[in-house]
Amino acid sequence: MTAKLLEVREIAPNVRHFLFQVEDAPAFAYVPGQFVSFTAEINGSPITRAYSIVSTPSGRCFELCLNCVVEGKLSPYLFSLKPGDEVPMTGPWGGFIFRQPVEDSVLVATGTGIAPFRAMLKDILQRDSSHQFTLIFGVRYEQTLLYRDEFEELARKHANFRFWPTLSRPGPDWQGRRGHVQEHLPEAIGDRRDVNVFICGLKAMVDDVRTRLKAQGFERKRIIYEKYD
Ligand SMILES: Cc1cc2nc3c(=O)[nH]c(=O)nc-3n(C[C@H](O)[C@H](O)[C@H](O)COP(=O)(O)OP(=O)(O)OC[C@H]3O[C@@H](n4cnc5c(N)ncnc54)[C@H](O)[C@@H]3O)c2cc1C
Repeated sequence: MTAKLLEVREIAPNVRHFLFQVEDAPAFAYVPGQFVSFTAEINGSPITRAYSIVSTPSGRCFELCLNCVVEGKLSPYLFSLKPGDEVPMTGPWGGFIFRQPVEDSVLVATGTGIAPFRAMLKDILQRDSSHQFTLIFGVRYEQTLLYRDEFEELARKHANFRFWPTLSRPGPDWQGRRGHVQEHLPEAIGDRRDVNVFICGLKAMVDDVRTRLKAQGFERKRIIYEKYD
């Protein structure tokens, strides 16, 4: 398959939101939480990387949210694309999706690890008002709270959704949560062990959250994770 870039915009320093269209299929069907794989030839070698879809299914279009890894191979290339440019892709892939039957869930993300949760929450909150969803989203600075307005709006509209942004390097005016996502997990979970916990981001955070949950007696099948590295 081929994805054509339609639009791109910067949503935080070094982070862009991309709108792509699948060129050679009448529609692009996927389950919110899944990812696509992009390939490009970089310095003569094909490089393939995975990217979580940040949008809910809509015809042939899908959206991504990317961080530019300065020393990286594929992400700087993707940042150099202009509308109209095309990239070979495969997908959708992955099983980082809400389990059936859906249960009360805590979603833990750092940085661009928020991407699958934007798609999953926009989708589930439209049709499920009986389960509780809590999103703990950790970043360093307030200006890198990706999609903050959208999550705040979802929390206003849906009584069963709690949005807990937390900053590890807050400015003097920040009134919200502070520190790493791990510090807010106990409050989100309390003494319940019948919730599913979804974790997405870089390995160090994901592994640390998994270790803590296991130590607290969580069943393995309730800890669902996607590691970006
Ligand atoms: C299932 C899956 C879904 C993913 N979804 C996304 C996504 O939605 N958005 C996204 O930006 N990336 C995502 N990634 C990471 C992505 O695949 C690439 O690893 C990333 O773009 C770096 O690739 P690169 O070739 O530029 O860097 P490489 O040359 O591969 O360098 C890798 C270095 O970049 C670091 N790194 C990887 N991803 C990130 C990141 N997001 N932020 C900061 N540092 C990172 C790694 O720790 C490693 O040190 C996902 C990875 C997986 C496995």
